[in-house]
Amino acid sequence: KETAGELVRIEQLEVDFDGFKAIRGLDFSLSSGELRFLIGPNGAGKTTLLDVLCGKVKPSKGKVLFRNHVDLTKHQEHQIAQLGIGRKFQAPSIFVTLTVLENLLLSMRQKRGLLSSLIAQTTVEQRERMKYYLHMIGLEKKSKDKAGSLSHGEKQWLEIGMLLIQQPELLLLDEPAAGMTDSETEKTGELLHKISDQQTIIVVEHDMDFVRQFAKTVTVMHEGSVLCEGTMQEVQNDDKVAEVYLGR
Ligand code: ADP
Repeated sequence: KETAGELVRIEQLEVDFDGFKAIRGLDFSLSSGELRFLIGPNGAGKTTLLDVLCGKVKPSKGKVLFRNHVDLTKHQEHQIAQLGIGRKFQAPSIFVTLTVLENLLLSMRQKRGLLSSLIAQTTVEQRERMKYYLHMIGLEKKSKDKAGSLSHGEKQWLEIGMLLIQQPELLLLDEPAAGMTDSETEKTGELLHKISDQQTIIVVEHDMDFVRQFAKTVTVMHEGSVLCEGTMQEVQNDDKVAEVYLGR
Protein backbone atom coordinates (compact mmCIF):
# COMPACT_ATOMS: atom_id res chain seq x y z
CA LYS A 1 0.00 0.00 0.00
CA GLU A 2 3.02 2.30 -0.24
CA THR A 3 2.52 5.52 -2.12
CA ALA A 4 5.37 7.33 -3.82
CA GLY A 5 6.12 10.64 -2.14
CA GLU A 6 4.28 9.71 1.01
CA LEU A 7 6.16 11.04 4.02
CA VAL A 8 3.81 10.15 6.88
CA ARG A 9 1.23 7.42 7.12
CA ILE A 10 -0.83 6.87 10.24
CA GLU A 11 -3.25 3.98 10.55
CA GLN A 12 -5.86 3.35 13.22
CA LEU A 13 -4.05 5.44 15.82
CA GLU A 14 -5.20 5.45 19.42
CA VAL A 15 -3.86 7.55 22.27
CA ASP A 16 -5.09 6.77 25.73
CA PHE A 17 -4.67 9.16 28.67
CA ASP A 18 -5.68 7.15 31.75
CA GLY A 19 -8.64 5.59 29.99
CA PHE A 20 -9.60 8.73 28.04
CA LYS A 21 -9.09 8.27 24.31
CA ALA A 22 -7.71 11.56 23.03
CA ILE A 23 -7.10 9.93 19.63
CA ARG A 24 -9.38 7.16 18.42
CA GLY A 25 -9.07 5.32 15.14
CA LEU A 26 -7.26 8.13 13.34
CA ASP A 27 -6.01 7.59 9.78
CA PHE A 28 -3.81 10.26 8.26
CA SER A 29 -1.45 10.55 5.34
CA LEU A 30 0.87 13.32 4.22
CA SER A 31 2.92 13.68 1.06
CA SER A 32 6.39 15.16 0.82
CA GLY A 33 6.31 18.88 0.13
CA GLU A 34 2.85 19.53 1.58
CA LEU A 35 1.91 22.44 3.81
CA ARG A 36 -0.95 20.91 5.75
CA PHE A 37 -3.12 22.77 8.25
CA LEU A 38 -4.74 20.86 11.13
CA ILE A 39 -7.87 22.48 12.46
CA GLY A 40 -10.78 21.47 14.65
CA PRO A 41 -12.47 22.44 17.91
CA ASN A 42 -10.60 22.54 21.22
CA GLY A 43 -9.86 19.06 22.51
CA ALA A 44 -10.08 17.48 19.05
CA GLY A 45 -6.63 15.93 19.50
CA LYS A 46 -4.55 18.16 17.21
CA THR A 47 -1.71 18.81 19.66
CA THR A 48 -1.74 15.16 20.70
CA LEU A 49 -1.25 14.16 17.06
CA LEU A 50 1.84 16.41 16.83
CA ASP A 51 3.03 14.95 20.14
CA VAL A 52 2.78 11.44 18.69
CA LEU A 53 4.70 12.45 15.56
CA CYS A 54 7.59 13.92 17.56
CA GLY A 55 7.62 11.03 20.02
CA LYS A 56 6.50 12.98 23.06
CA VAL A 57 3.39 10.85 23.44
CA LYS A 58 3.28 7.11 22.79
CA PRO A 59 0.13 5.68 21.24
CA SER A 60 -1.62 2.66 22.70
CA LYS A 61 -2.46 1.31 19.23
CA GLY A 62 -1.85 1.97 15.58
CA LYS A 63 0.89 2.53 13.07
CA VAL A 64 2.91 5.71 12.59
CA LEU A 65 5.20 5.39 9.59
CA PHE A 66 7.73 7.97 8.43
CA ARG A 67 9.22 7.69 4.92
CA ASN A 68 7.26 4.46 4.37
CA HIS A 69 9.33 2.25 6.63
CA VAL A 70 10.41 4.01 9.83
CA ASP A 71 8.02 3.10 12.65
CA LEU A 72 8.03 6.22 14.83
CA THR A 73 6.30 4.49 17.73
CA LYS A 74 9.53 2.53 18.28
CA HIS A 75 11.71 5.63 18.68
CA GLN A 76 12.40 8.07 21.48
CA GLU A 77 11.87 11.81 21.11
CA HIS A 78 15.58 12.67 20.58
CA GLN A 79 15.93 9.90 17.97
CA ILE A 80 12.92 11.21 16.09
CA ALA A 81 14.48 14.66 16.03
CA GLN A 82 17.59 13.10 14.49
CA LEU A 83 15.47 11.25 11.96
CA GLY A 84 14.43 14.67 10.66
CA ILE A 85 11.26 15.73 12.44
CA GLY A 86 11.44 19.18 14.06
CA ARG A 87 8.81 20.39 16.51
CA LYS A 88 8.17 23.94 17.57
CA PHE A 89 6.22 24.38 20.75
CA GLN A 90 4.23 27.49 21.60
CA ALA A 91 6.62 28.74 24.27
CA PRO A 92 9.86 29.97 22.70
CA SER A 93 13.08 28.20 23.65
CA ILE A 94 15.69 30.68 22.52
CA PHE A 95 18.70 31.91 24.51
CA VAL A 96 17.70 35.50 25.30
CA THR A 97 21.16 36.67 26.33
CA LEU A 98 22.75 35.50 23.07
CA THR A 99 22.51 37.21 19.71
CA VAL A 100 20.29 36.03 16.88
CA LEU A 101 23.30 34.66 15.02
CA GLU A 102 24.65 32.87 18.10
CA ASN A 103 21.27 31.19 18.62
CA LEU A 104 21.32 29.94 15.03
CA LEU A 105 24.91 28.79 15.40
CA LEU A 106 24.21 26.82 18.57
CA SER A 107 21.22 25.18 16.99
CA MET A 108 23.16 24.29 13.86
CA ARG A 109 26.13 22.83 15.72
CA GLN A 110 23.97 21.19 18.38
CA LYS A 111 26.83 21.16 20.80
CA ARG A 112 27.76 22.97 23.92
CA GLY A 113 31.09 24.68 24.19
CA LEU A 114 32.66 28.07 24.13
CA LEU A 115 30.83 30.17 21.59
CA SER A 116 34.07 31.75 20.42
CA SER A 117 35.53 28.36 19.56
CA LEU A 118 32.28 27.25 17.89
CA ILE A 119 32.41 30.38 15.74
CA ALA A 120 36.08 29.78 14.90
CA GLN A 121 35.32 26.21 13.81
CA THR A 122 32.44 27.15 11.56
CA THR A 123 32.95 26.08 7.95
CA VAL A 124 32.20 28.22 4.92
CA GLU A 125 29.25 25.97 4.12
CA GLN A 126 27.85 26.47 7.62
CA ARG A 127 28.27 30.25 7.40
CA GLU A 128 26.41 30.23 4.11
CA ARG A 129 23.68 28.14 5.67
CA MET A 130 23.30 30.59 8.57
CA LYS A 131 23.12 33.52 6.15
CA TYR A 132 20.53 31.73 4.08
CA TYR A 133 18.22 31.04 7.01
CA LEU A 134 18.78 34.49 8.54
CA HIS A 135 17.52 35.91 5.28
CA MET A 136 14.61 33.49 5.12
CA ILE A 137 13.34 34.44 8.59
CA GLY A 138 13.88 38.13 7.78
CA LEU A 139 16.32 38.86 10.60
CA GLU A 140 19.53 39.72 8.69
CA LYS A 141 19.50 43.26 10.04
CA LYS A 142 19.12 41.97 13.59
CA SER A 143 21.74 39.23 13.47
CA LYS A 144 23.85 40.92 16.15
CA ASP A 145 20.93 41.88 18.41
CA LYS A 146 20.30 39.95 21.59
CA ALA A 147 17.45 37.50 21.09
CA GLY A 148 15.82 38.88 24.24
CA SER A 149 15.40 42.28 22.59
CA LEU A 150 13.36 40.91 19.66
CA SER A 151 9.62 41.39 19.32
CA HIS A 152 7.33 38.44 20.02
CA GLY A 153 6.99 37.70 16.32
CA GLU A 154 10.72 37.94 15.66
CA LYS A 155 11.42 35.50 18.51
CA GLN A 156 9.05 33.00 16.91
CA TRP A 157 10.76 33.39 13.52
CA LEU A 158 14.16 32.93 15.13
CA GLU A 159 12.94 29.72 16.67
CA ILE A 160 11.64 28.54 13.32
CA GLY A 161 15.05 29.43 11.85
CA MET A 162 16.73 27.39 14.58
CA LEU A 163 14.67 24.38 13.54
CA LEU A 164 15.18 24.98 9.82
CA ILE A 165 18.95 25.20 10.15
CA GLN A 166 18.91 21.58 11.30
CA GLN A 167 17.23 20.85 7.96
CA PRO A 168 14.45 18.56 9.14
CA GLU A 169 12.34 16.81 6.54
CA LEU A 170 9.13 17.44 8.47
CA LEU A 171 8.39 20.52 10.53
CA LEU A 172 5.60 20.51 13.14
CA LEU A 173 4.29 23.90 14.23
CA ASP A 174 1.75 24.61 16.93
CA GLU A 175 -0.08 27.91 16.35
CA PRO A 176 2.90 29.74 14.85
CA ALA A 177 1.05 33.06 14.64
CA ALA A 178 -0.41 33.07 18.16
CA GLY A 179 -0.10 36.45 19.88
CA MET A 180 1.30 38.18 16.79
CA THR A 181 0.33 41.55 15.39
CA ASP A 182 -1.49 41.61 12.04
CA SER A 183 1.66 42.41 10.09
CA GLU A 184 3.67 39.72 11.92
CA THR A 185 0.88 37.22 11.21
CA GLU A 186 1.01 38.10 7.53
CA LYS A 187 4.78 37.65 7.45
CA THR A 188 4.47 34.31 9.24
CA GLY A 189 2.06 33.04 6.59
CA GLU A 190 4.47 34.11 3.87
CA LEU A 191 7.34 32.43 5.73
CA LEU A 192 5.40 29.15 5.87
CA HIS A 193 4.97 29.22 2.12
CA LYS A 194 8.65 29.96 1.57
CA ILE A 195 9.61 27.07 3.87
CA SER A 196 7.20 24.69 2.18
CA ASP A 197 9.16 24.96 -1.05
CA GLN A 198 11.77 22.81 0.68
CA GLN A 199 10.22 21.18 3.70
CA THR A 200 7.01 19.41 4.57
CA ILE A 201 5.04 21.20 7.27
CA ILE A 202 2.10 20.43 9.53
CA VAL A 203 0.58 23.48 11.23
CA VAL A 204 -1.97 23.35 14.03
CA GLU A 205 -3.94 26.57 13.83
CA HIS A 206 -6.94 28.07 15.62
CA ASP A 207 -7.00 31.39 13.82
CA MET A 208 -9.44 30.69 10.99
CA ASP A 209 -8.65 33.96 9.18
CA PHE A 210 -5.03 32.83 9.04
CA VAL A 211 -6.05 29.39 7.77
CA ARG A 212 -8.35 30.87 5.10
CA GLN A 213 -5.58 33.12 3.88
CA PHE A 214 -2.67 30.69 3.85
CA ALA A 215 -3.93 27.09 3.78
CA LYS A 216 -4.09 24.97 0.67
CA THR A 217 -4.99 21.63 2.23
CA VAL A 218 -6.77 21.32 5.55
CA THR A 219 -7.42 18.35 7.80
CA VAL A 220 -10.34 18.84 10.18
CA MET A 221 -10.15 16.84 13.39
CA HIS A 222 -12.98 16.11 15.78
CA GLU A 223 -13.08 13.88 18.85
CA GLY A 224 -9.75 12.26 18.15
CA SER A 225 -10.12 11.40 14.50
CA VAL A 226 -10.22 12.99 11.07
CA LEU A 227 -13.61 14.47 10.21
CA CYS A 228 -12.79 15.62 6.71
CA GLU A 229 -9.98 16.79 4.50
CA GLY A 230 -9.60 18.95 1.44
CA THR A 231 -9.13 22.51 0.33
CA MET A 232 -10.44 25.22 2.67
CA GLN A 233 -13.31 25.73 0.23
CA GLU A 234 -14.21 22.03 0.34
CA VAL A 235 -14.11 21.68 4.12
CA GLN A 236 -16.09 24.89 4.62
CA ASN A 237 -18.88 23.45 2.49
CA ASP A 238 -18.86 20.14 4.34
CA ASP A 239 -22.01 19.52 6.40
CA LYS A 240 -20.13 17.57 9.08
CA VAL A 241 -17.77 20.52 9.61
CA ALA A 242 -20.65 22.99 9.92
CA GLU A 243 -22.21 20.72 12.51
CA VAL A 244 -19.05 20.51 14.61
CA TYR A 245 -18.24 24.21 14.47
CA LEU A 246 -21.71 25.70 14.54
CA GLY A 247 -23.71 22.93 16.19
CA ARG A 248 -26.07 22.61 13.25
P1 ADP B 1 -6.45 20.11 20.64
O1 ADP B 1 -5.01 20.38 20.39
O2 ADP B 1 -7.21 19.71 19.42
O3 ADP B 1 -7.15 21.24 21.36
P2 ADP B 1 -5.44 18.14 22.48
O4 ADP B 1 -4.68 17.20 21.64
O5 ADP B 1 -4.68 19.15 23.26
O6 ADP B 1 -6.57 18.84 21.61
O7 ADP B 1 -6.31 17.31 23.53
C1 ADP B 1 -7.19 16.27 23.18
C2 ADP B 1 -7.85 15.73 24.42
O8 ADP B 1 -6.92 15.02 25.21
C3 ADP B 1 -8.43 16.83 25.31
O9 ADP B 1 -9.65 16.37 25.84
C4 ADP B 1 -7.37 16.97 26.38
O10 ADP B 1 -7.96 17.40 27.59
C5 ADP B 1 -6.83 15.57 26.51
N1 ADP B 1 -5.42 15.54 26.91
C6 ADP B 1 -4.39 16.08 26.22
N2 ADP B 1 -3.22 15.83 26.85
C7 ADP B 1 -3.52 15.11 27.96
C8 ADP B 1 -2.76 14.53 29.03
N3 ADP B 1 -1.43 14.65 29.07
N4 ADP B 1 -3.43 13.86 29.98
C9 ADP B 1 -4.77 13.73 29.95
N5 ADP B 1 -5.54 14.24 28.97
C10 ADP B 1 -4.94 14.92 27.99
